[in-house]
Amino acid sequence: MARYKDEQCRICRREGQKLFLKGSRCYTDKCSIARRNYAPGQNGQKRKKLSEYGTQLREKQKTKSFYGVGEKQFRKYFDMASANRGKTGEVLLQILETRLDNVVYRLGYGASRAQARMLITHGSFEVNGEKVDIPSYLVKAGDVISVREIRKDNGFIKLNVEENSARPVPEWLQKDAQNLNGKVVRLPVREDVDIPVEEHLIVELYSK
Ligand code: SF4
Repeated sequence: MARYKDEQCRICRREGQKLFLKGSRCYTDKCSIARRNYAPGQNGQKRKKLSEYGTQLREKQKTKSFYGVGEKQFRKYFDMASANRGKTGEVLLQILETRLDNVVYRLGYGASRAQARMLITHGSFEVNGEKVDIPSYLVKAGDVISVREIRKDNGFIKLNVEENSARPVPEWLQKDAQNLNGKVVRLPVREDVDIPVEEHLIVELYSK
């Protein structure tokens, strides 16, 4: 299948928002949204007015892209959130935030969620001293996520630590860059989640 060179940037341009899918480039003026903030394609500069369904669908697609989650997994998270007594949309975001790939990215040990996934599947991280190579692993309050001893010299991780030293870490996480680890101080709440999403639209979409 043909792949666009700037595939991730096209997703951002389609959504009209920065979704931070490409690592350090997203924080520079090379970001495609900064240069061409219109949808890709021939008619990209004419944004169409979306129907109610279209708006809800876009919000779901955007959230899936932001976290790099497929449809089946996303639906599973929605069902988990629905079964919870909290607000479904907020619980859904909490579940997505607690995925190990997101946590590794938030701690700055991955340049992007996609790279964090790659590093995790290659066995670079452990949770509470146990190797975890599943990017969808859900962390809990009190968990400690560390770079495994045998991976401390990994070039990507070293570069990420250097480049992301100034990137803010959300309040629900505590980073110890010197020891290449981080702790989940508490579970994230809605205010901790910076994705520009109206989660109620996703709830409305799935509730049809
Ligand atoms: Fe590309 Fe990142 Fe900018 Fe999105 S935020 S358009 S992925 S550079």
